Amino acid sequence: MAVQNKVVIITGASSGIGAATARLLAQNGAKVVLAARRESQLQQLQQQITQSGGEAVYQVTDVRQPEEMHALVELAKKHFQGVDVIFNNAGIMPNSPISALQTNDWNNMIDINLKGVLNGIAAVMPIFAKQKSGHIITTSSIAGLKSFMGCGVYGATKFAVRNLMEVIRQESATEQTNIRTTTLYPAAINTELLQSISDANVLQSMTQLYNQVGISPDAISRAVNFAIEQPEDTNISELTIYPTKQA
Ligand code: NDP
Repeated sequence: MAVQNKVVIITGASSGIGAATARLLAQNGAKVVLAARRESQLQQLQQQITQSGGEAVYQVTDVRQPEEMHALVELAKKHFQGVDVIFNNAGIMPNSPISALQTNDWNNMIDINLKGVLNGIAAVMPIFAKQKSGHIITTSSIAGLKSFMGCGVYGATKFAVRNLMEVIRQESATEQTNIRTTTLYPAAINTELLQSISDANVLQSMTQLYNQVGISPDAISRAVNFAIEQPEDTNISELTIYPTKQA
């Protein structure tokens, strides 16, 4: 029931929501497996966690590569003897109007925000089937619930993830393995996410919004902690997290 001793794989752990979640879960006794591309950030976070008495390992991982996601599961098995939770959180948001035809950005968002999540799911499903339990948590976005100008492809990946997670929830409810699914819909959270926006107008308006109302990624880490700590028969399937001051 508690977070304590749960083995949690976290993608996108090198900054923002992933790093905040790793800190909180480790503080509460989870064993965290940190994944992202930037090694120095992962190493620093792992050191911080272990120096505070927590348990963490890391592996440089690109969620676009299925074999790297499988290797992450193997790392968790080797160090912590299993996987209880995967937090599919890695994502990018190089937003622009569709008319700008930033097709490289479109493909990268599909590869990371959607296919990256699928790679995470494919990597844990076999071990969850063997254990007969597991928990998949995925970061969608309020852009996965509502449509916003400038968020066409980003929103498309986040709507897709919503559908995927709900289908896994329904299928798992009728299968023998107990798989819980939690989809998160954060609004403006102050992280490094806006750094991937190259369109000047979109960047300006989003920066203004985030400066006005954005809140700490700790808000999302608490939501993840809440979903994990529920009893096995309780599935927190969706959580929407707004800054109180965001309209
Ligand atoms: P950050 O930019 O701080 O974090 C994004 C993380 O994703 C980084 O750790 C980055 O690490 C990782 N990442 C990106 N591409 C890859 C890749 N190919 N393989 C592995 N890791 C990758 O932003 P957030 O913390 O805000 O973003 C986390 C999630 O939250 C994203 O899915 C985002 O869409 C979602 N979200 C964020 C909101 C916000 O307002 N901040 C609102 C709604 C949703 P590295 O570069 O080292 O690989």
